[in-house]
Amino acid sequence: MADLVVTIDGPAGSGKSTVARLLAERLGATFLDTGAMYRAVTLAAVRDGVDLANEERVLQVVREHRFDFEAGAGKLVVRIDGQDVSEPIRDPDLTAKVRHIACAGRVREQLVAMQRAFASRHAKIVTEGRDQGTVAFPDAKAKFYLTADPAERARRRAAELQAKGAAADLEEIRRAIESRDKSDENRAVGPLKPAQDAVILDTTGLSVQEVVERIYAKVQGQAEPATSKPSRGVEPAEVKERRHEAVQVPRSPAAWYWVARLMCWVFSVICFRYRAYGRENLPREGAFVLACNHQSFLDPVFCGIAVKRQVTYMARDTLFKNWFFGPLITSVNAIPISRDKPEIAVMRLVIDRLREGAAVCLFPEGTRTQDGRIAAFKPGFGLLCRRSKAAVVPVLVEGAFEAWPRHKKLFRPFQPIVVQFGKPLDPKQVADMTNEQLAEKVTQTLREMQNEVRRKQGRQPYEYEAKSEA
Ligand code: C5P
Repeated sequence: MADLVVTIDGPAGSGKSTVARLLAERLGATFLDTGAMYRAVTLAAVRDGVDLANEERVLQVVREHRFDFEAGAGKLVVRIDGQDVSEPIRDPDLTAKVRHIACAGRVREQLVAMQRAFASRHAKIVTEGRDQGTVAFPDAKAKFYLTADPAERARRRAAELQAKGAAADLEEIRRAIESRDKSDENRAVGPLKPAQDAVILDTTGLSVQEVVERIYAKVQGQAEPATSKPSRGVEPAEVKERRHEAVQVPRSPAAWYWVARLMCWVFSVICFRYRAYGRENLPREGAFVLACNHQSFLDPVFCGIAVKRQVTYMARDTLFKNWFFGPLITSVNAIPISRDKPEIAVMRLVIDRLREGAAVCLFPEGTRTQDGRIAAFKPGFGLLCRRSKAAVVPVLVEGAFEAWPRHKKLFRPFQPIVVQFGKPLDPKQVADMTNEQLAEKVTQTLREMQNEVRRKQGRQPYEYEAKSEA
């Protein structure tokens, strides 16, 4: 059996074929499209004039013909007796007939045996279908189940057909998809359903790249323990536990997040002389931690509005108790954390988000500055970054202390606020440092950035000791 088997199941149009193919490329694995196997057998049976409801005859078709499935450039090449049938098996009329083959238990057994044989010939495979996590590879370490809204799935299929120059009636496609779902979900053998230990991902509104990123991050986290030290990864048992974790924090609805970000931007520019620099240092994709110094309550706003991706924040749990402020910050991806006793479950949730490719903003000083200076970062945040293989971006907020120092009840408007993103430390650099070295490095970087900004503004730089204060 392959060393790594990633299963991706889900209904038609959930994006699993494209995602599985791209994921396989990314992992250096071989891609197996098991739907193509069911299609190929259907085509062979149709060509032989076999009654598709006659299981015995269809089994004979499977035995009599040679079926080859080979990963070609960007797609699976399917051959029946040496003839390339990769295109004819996608014909919509043929697609409607596959259900007869998919319902035949003994035919399924043959195909599952072929799938396992395929896995035994390759070191790593990403296999997609309906029963890969449940029947074909129940012991696979990484299982995913993709879903998407039926209307979106129909739109995707229509776009695929249009790209090939074929006619596409959206309503008809939708009806065909729903009928296929029903037949796939309700058959007695190998029905479409998520494996109990599968990660379920709703791909509605997500780009293919985003889905690939999330799955890739999870696979890296899950596949790692077999080959590396426990401290650098998560054991499978821990992964399972994490799936059943009680901590649930809703994600911000995308539209609301962008509206809120826009309002905060307008507020920051009008009420303060807000400027953000170094945004080109923000990684375009993949997980990153914004390691930010902490001057005021408004720092998450000042930091987040400059980032073109949704940012997840960790905020003191007491802030969530306020009837107005609590729901407000929850609606823009804030996760409550206790300052005295960071909860493991919350840490795991943040690691999970990072592994899905999220951007997370942290304030590793732990509390707002007393005097505007940057205190030594607490090393604990390094664990999150390393566990999730996230890049670390140092973020300087300067001027917010003058705008809203911790001893004042209200902020003072029209203060110049500068946010500056430093050069990121990539996950490899982070992996090579201890937590203390990482904390020291980011603290020093931010102090230098802060003093440079202050010099440019004609203000006195702060005096810091050469090494971080403990
Ligand atoms: O994934 P694709 O749309 O190509 O699959 C075609 C059909 O093959 C599905 O609708 C389903 O009935 C069947 N199938 C299956 N089990 C799989 C893969 C596909 O029953 N593992």
